[in-house]
Amino acid sequence: MKIIDTHAHLDQLPNLDQALKNAASAGVEAIMAMSMDLASCKKSLLIKQTTSQPKIYLAMGMHPSEVNLADLDALILLIKENRNQLNAIGEIGLDFWYKWVRKDEAKKDEQRQVFHRLLNLAKELDLPVVIHSRGAWRECFETAQGLGLTKVNFHWYSGPLDVLSDIMLAGYFVSTSPSVAFSPQSREAMSHAAIEQTLIETDCPVYFGNRDDGTGFEAEPKDVVRTLKAYCDLKKIEESVALNIFNQNAKKFFGIT
Ligand SMILES: [Zn+2]
Repeated sequence: MKIIDTHAHLDQLPNLDQALKNAASAGVEAIMAMSMDLASCKKSLLIKQTTSQPKIYLAMGMHPSEVNLADLDALILLIKENRNQLNAIGEIGLDFWYKWVRKDEAKKDEQRQVFHRLLNLAKELDLPVVIHSRGAWRECFETAQGLGLTKVNFHWYSGPLDVLSDIMLAGYFVSTSPSVAFSPQSREAMSHAAIEQTLIETDCPVYFGNRDDGTGFEAEPKDVVRTLKAYCDLKKIEESVALNIFNQNAKKFFGIT
């Protein structure tokens, strides 16, 4: 099997070396490494430069939950300096999921400022974007579309179907995580999204499932195989057929070979 994890936080894995070995044994040929903030961008760059297997592709960005305006200029400079090492800007976006954020206009404005600047940067540098849109699906879509972005991935999409339908019409992509095995929202979204505009990922090291009854697990890149299997179960599609499409999608979307 040759499979690609399109969304992993390698710099946050508790045992990166082992996770990379496990990934290679599971047939993971490439990983798209996301970044959360300035320190995470630097760590991810180092991981990319020191790893040969699986192949590491890099995304730099500032996650909406980690917005730090004081670091933004330095982060943008780092991105520009390393443009030729990058395959995407990510993870960026808006997260209005929690009530305390929804009520905090200043916090939301900070998120918006960072999101806008990094979307404009992606456009200027001609890079695809990986968007975190939890609780702000419609606004993320309208912002990206309003700024004229063409290569957009709504990562771990589990939002409303009307926004999903606009994402599909715009020619944008969604991705799904191991949650497609059990989350009603993920399953609903994936049953409506076109496979030709879908990517598979792990968002590792996110913990999936139940911690108490022993059925849960902390994701690693190798668990992208679980995403594939759960997706195929849901969509009643053969794994080899789906995998072929997902690999083509990832290569096309991120411009990798
Ligand atoms: Zn993520």
